[in-house]
Amino acid sequence: MFRLYNSASRKVEEFVPFEAGKVGMYTCGPTVYHFAHIGNLRTYIMEDILDRYLRYIGYAVKRVMNITDVGHLTSDGDTGEDKMLKGAKREHKSVMEIAAYYTDCFFSDCAKLHIRRPDVVEPATHCIDDFIHVISVLLEKGYAYAAGGNIYFDTSRLDRYYVFNDFRTDDLAVGVREGVEGDDNKRNKADFVLWFTKSKFEDQELKWDSPWGVGYPGWHIECSSISMKHLGEHLDIHCGGIDNAFPHHTNEIAQSEAYLGHKWCNCWMHVLHLNTDSGKMSKSKGEFLTVSLLEEKGYDPLAYRLFCLQSHYRRPQTFSYENLDNAAVSYKKLVARVAALKKDAAERVDENALAALRTAFTDALDSDLNTSLAVTALYTALKADTNDATKRAAIAEFDSVLSLGLLEAADRLAAENEKKAAAAASAVRVYSEDPEIRAIEEAIDARAAAKKAKNYAEADRIRAELAAKGVILTDTPSGTTFERK
Ligand code: AMP
Ligand code: ZN
Repeated sequence: MFRLYNSASRKVEEFVPFEAGKVGMYTCGPTVYHFAHIGNLRTYIMEDILDRYLRYIGYAVKRVMNITDVGHLTSDGDTGEDKMLKGAKREHKSVMEIAAYYTDCFFSDCAKLHIRRPDVVEPATHCIDDFIHVISVLLEKGYAYAAGGNIYFDTSRLDRYYVFNDFRTDDLAVGVREGVEGDDNKRNKADFVLWFTKSKFEDQELKWDSPWGVGYPGWHIECSSISMKHLGEHLDIHCGGIDNAFPHHTNEIAQSEAYLGHKWCNCWMHVLHLNTDSGKMSKSKGEFLTVSLLEEKGYDPLAYRLFCLQSHYRRPQTFSYENLDNAAVSYKKLVARVAALKKDAAERVDENALAALRTAFTDALDSDLNTSLAVTALYTALKADTNDATKRAAIAEFDSVLSLGLLEAADRLAAENEKKAAAAASAVRVYSEDPEIRAIEEAIDARAAAKKAKNYAEADRIRAELAAKGVILTDTPSGTTFERK
């Protein structure tokens, strides 16, 4: 039975989808004003494990992700600079050029980390009509109001606004979060913008016509609308990094449930942050680690994936090169151990042994996605008292979820090793200058050729002939050596 921590109930719960056998999963996508840093990618790796595991245990998963290419302000609330404008100015390009470039970079990083592309990927700027529709309904139902040229969500209409934390109403000063300033148009401190018509950015590039004037959407409305557009009125799982819980996901719940008139999402999965010794890794600080940087330093991106899997998603993880080095060594050793497994077509998979190995693996992931124990299950399979065909079958199965590319990397390694051995065997023999030694070397080669031709009598005769002259041969994996008595 698959159990997952639900941030909304603060409990590990049995996962039960709205419709048997099917899962609707929504992931907050990247804000494409810069490269994704490896902290962002930790979140996407963990969500990928969830996606893959749900499929592994038999669910038909439909996963949807937005691409934030408009509306996300640096405060995560309604104040600060527009992140996309900030990126465009930095690079002297248009917002759409920046968005296209960093979206491609994001999916290329995901591919290197074996993060499956969601079934639906939807840029916010493609869905403006959907946002306008949801905002219109919220206005009709009295959950939204116009003030000072903008449209706001009225949080006082809700019985409960704070779902993920226990703020009291008096604590809801607009300045709860750093950098969040007051806005005189707001009726309640917690209200948030659904549509900006009175743009505070004179140079706002992206603007659309709306029933309320030319403007652009708030950030939160995009995820509610895109999710409901593709996954309907009931969402099974919504994921994101922990910083998304408030205000982003809190506002998503407010809007979606006000719009629908019923509960919207059953389960919320939040991934804790990747930190460095100097604190949280953040794009806005400008200095951050990317997959390309790790590659330049010689790391295989999949070693970073293994690094992430070694920690639980509900604990913060600290990045250091020392920790990554350890993961890189473990990854190499793991691949070498898989490469050492024999491939014998005649060997049969022992289904009972495989089932026992599988239980350890599913027990780990059923228990709130315990990825480090799932990796341990891989090592258990390698050490198990069973044949290599069964071990390879277990690894193939587990790696369909863990996605460390183990069999592919092992096959590449085995092919490289074979190539090296063949090159060594066909290398031109350089004989000794000393005529006596040269005669021995030639005899050794003649014996090797006789053995290859299965002419063992001749090979033995050469060995005996040399022995009679006091030359003793020793066969080693890298060739035959000799000693003279
Ligand atoms: P963004 O591109 O800033 O919208 O963030 C993309 C995803 O990364 C969101 O789910 C964030 O919650 C998540 N995230 C941001 N910073 C970190 C971090 N340091 N560690 C892990 N996840 C993060
Ligand atoms: Zn979102």
